[in-house]
Formats: sequence, structure tokens, C-alpha cells
Amino acid sequence: MDDQEVDVLIIGAGPAGAACALGLLRYSDCRVWVLDNGDLQQVRVGEHVSSSIFDFLDYLKVDKRQFDDQCFTANYGKTSYWGSDIPSQHDSLFTTAGTSYQLKRELFDLELLKQVADAGGHVLPRSQCLSVEQNDQQEWTVDIEHERFGAFQINAQYLVDASGRKAFMSRRLGIPRRNDDRLMGVGTFLQFNDGPLNHDQLIETTELGWWYTATLSDNTAVATFFSDADIISRDQLQKPENWNQCLQQTKHMRKRLQGSQTTTPNLWVKDASSQVNDLHQRSHFIAIGDAAAAFDPVSSMGLGFALSSACVGAKALQATLANGNEESLAVYDKDIQNNFTQYQTNKRQVYGQEQRWPSATFWQRRQDNVL
Ligand SMILES: Cc1cc2nc3c(=O)[nH]c(=O)nc-3n(C[C@H](O)[C@H](O)[C@H](O)COP(=O)(O)OP(=O)(O)OC[C@H]3O[C@@H](n4cnc5c(N)ncnc54)[C@H](O)[C@@H]3O)c2cc1C
Repeated sequence: MDDQEVDVLIIGAGPAGAACALGLLRYSDCRVWVLDNGDLQQVRVGEHVSSSIFDFLDYLKVDKRQFDDQCFTANYGKTSYWGSDIPSQHDSLFTTAGTSYQLKRELFDLELLKQVADAGGHVLPRSQCLSVEQNDQQEWTVDIEHERFGAFQINAQYLVDASGRKAFMSRRLGIPRRNDDRLMGVGTFLQFNDGPLNHDQLIETTELGWWYTATLSDNTAVATFFSDADIISRDQLQKPENWNQCLQQTKHMRKRLQGSQTTTPNLWVKDASSQVNDLHQRSHFIAIGDAAAAFDPVSSMGLGFALSSACVGAKALQATLANGNEESLAVYDKDIQNNFTQYQTNKRQVYGQEQRWPSATFWQRRQDNVL
């Protein structure tokens, strides 16, 4: 492939990267490329969203009807055993606003990328960024290796890190990142053959962490156990037999999942830690979505933030491209920090509600704020 000149190069084709590209393409005549090192076929997790995502989709001029029928499954409530064995009903542990939905992530993510391509953006999966350099005019040159097209360069005015929790580009540029905890999720997708499924989400805490299940379309469900990386490793909870044993020690979750079969033999293990990039002074660069700040899945904030930070980030980039002044990018970075600080307070309050295992490592860490 020939070398390319673009205005904005986005690294990562998840919801944040796609939404940022759309935000730029819908409201400016920017040349935008989105690169991903995956093939866009990998397992995608994180699917519970509030109806507020439709406001962002409206802004991005994406009609809900353009998504596959199976993409959104309405939730009929959330039952949670958190802090007590008496169930409580929430829409979300952080907010009680509006209807919520379970997304089929692969359908959602792929439709957003299709819209990017239709709007004139370039989406290139299977692309490795080999090196990145910034010249005196603050422009970027990124060396790319593509599975089929081979080696080529992209010269970009602005660079966006949308690579998820790995924060690949931020780390590559040496931007410090703070971890608030070491939470991991170990989970699987399940198939129910008999009878209708309960469409409530279910959350249940245990001594070692907490469980989550939610119904997706097609009589399938997702079930995940969340605990700290060292606890998962110590008890080998990534192994199906140990994960199942842990499941059998729950009171409510095991009943809900009775009669289901896993759709794959192995469990997936995902980083679910809360983390944020430090405020940085890197010119011509922003991070969006999980690459900027990543939240505990109990908050169900990840996808909403991926879209909101992408829309706001795209607006800030547009302003900067138009007037050459980076003030809007600095304001954007500061807002991320403020949001994360507020989130940390909320998170401590939510975890503080569970007092049944005061000497259990997982809960103690969250009471004492020791990581
Ligand atoms: C177990 C679990 C459960 C969750 N549950 C929820 C939930 O219920 N609700 C919710 O809102 N959120 C949830 N989340 C969070 C949610 O999944 C994320 O917030 C969301 O996916 C962030 O979108 P993103 O586009 O920023 O990053 P991602 O979706 O992670 O996308 C990043 C993209 O960047 C690509 N990439 C990575 N490295 C590179 C590289 N070096 N070069 C090029 N491309 C790269 C990846 O292939 C990927 O396509 C959950 C997360 C976990 C782990």
C-alpha cells in the first residue's frame, strides 16, 4: 500500500474509535483512518448500556433501526444481592434512570464501523503499528505492517488512542497511567435450550468477588465472575472446573444458570480494572474510551463513556484542526480527570455497601482502599 496523508489517525476500532471517526466525518471534511491490530472477529464483552447511548447515536447520525434486530435486547430489571441476601432491584448500581439494554457487541461494533466506511472513513483491521514519531511541527508518522498490504507509513496531523484498556499508544508515548484496582472478569457465553429465560440481570457478591449474568438475544446469556488478578491466579479460577465450583457456592447465580451449556470449552479472561491516563501535555494527541479511562463493569459506564468521550474528543479535535489552538484538547483531558475522580468516589460507596466479609482480601482491599 502507498503511504497515506491523513488529518486524524485513530488506533483501535472498538466503539470509541468508530464513534470518534464518525464524529469527525459527520461534522467536518477531515480525512480519517481507523486501524485495528485484530481481525474484528475477537470475543467482545461489555454489553449492558443505558438508553442514553441513543443520544450519542443520534448525534452521530446513526439510526437505531440500522442495527440488526438482534443487537439490542431490552432489560426488564436488575436483581442484585449486594451487601445483603435481600434482593434489591436497580436499573444500575450507579443510576436509576431509564430503560437499559443488552447489546450484541459484535453486531453493534460492526455496524458502527460500517457507518464509518459509508461516511468516507478508512477502516483497516489486521494492522500493527511498528513505530511512531512526532516531528517539530507536532505531526505524526506511524509505521504500519499490514497482514496483506505489507509495510507502509501514515502521516497524520492528530493521533487518537482508542485501543481500549491496553492503552497501547498512550503507553508507547510514555504517558503515565494509574490503576485503581486489579479487577479481572472470567466468563463465558451460555446457551439455554429449555423454556424462556429470565430477562433480569443478576448480580451476587461472594467472599471472593462478585458474579454477573445477563440475557442476550437467542436464548443466550453471559456469565462472568469478577475478582482481583492475584485471587483468580491463586485459585486458578480461569479453569472451568474451578470456576464452576465457585459458581456452585453461590445461592442465586447457580440456580439462574441451571440447565445452561457453555458455548465454548474455554473461559475468557479480561482485564476489568479501573484505570486512567495521567493528565498529559502531549501535543496533537488524545486518548478516548477505555484508553483514556476505564471503569469497573459494575458501573455499566464503559460503553457510554466510550461513545461520550469519542464524541467530545472528536469535537475538540475539530476545533483544534480549525483554529490550530489546542485549548479544547486540554479542556477535554481535564474533564476526563474530573470524571474519573467523581467515579472513584461512587465506586468506593458501592463497594462499601458490602460488609459481610470484612476480613476477605477482595472486600478488605476495597474498604481500606489498599490495592
Ligand atoms: C468483563 C467485562 C464486562 C464489561 N461489562 C460492561 C457493561 O456491562 N457495560 C458497559 O458499558 N461496559 C462494560 N465493560 C466495559 C466495555 O467493554 C468497554 O468500556 C468498552 O468496550 C470500551 O470501548 P473502547 O472502544 O474504548 O475499547 P475496546 O472495546 O476495548 O476496543 C479497543 C480496540 O482497540 C484494538 N486494539 C488494541 N490494541 C491495539 C493496537 N496495539 N493496535 C491497534 N488496535 C488495537 C482492539 O482490537 C479493539 O478492537 C465491560 C468490560 C469487561 C472487561
